[in-house]
Amino acid sequence: MPVDVRARACGYLRGGNVTVLLAHYDQVDPTRAYKVRAHVVGHSSTYVVRLADGVWSCTCGSPADCPHAAAVQLVTGHPSLARKAAK
Ligand SMILES: [Zn+2]
Repeated sequence: MPVDVRARACGYLRGGNVTVLLAHYDQVDPTRAYKVRAHVVGHSSTYVVRLADGVWSCTCGSPADCPHAAAVQLVTGHPSLARKAAK
């Protein structure tokens, strides 16, 4: 459920649990990283979130509703389930 993913993702950001280790930008779109690596400290583990070749992945293994990737997407300029819906 997107609302729950958003709440969890924002909780990770608010709690200081998100560390972006690498974010590469290019001239094509300087507002959106094309390559990302980040760590998100979760409840039971530290998850590794990656963007490579246009594909997001997370070591939690549930890419469809992953709050870790949603948190990282929000701070690297990508569409994200953590982003507040436009009114
Ligand atoms: Zn995850």
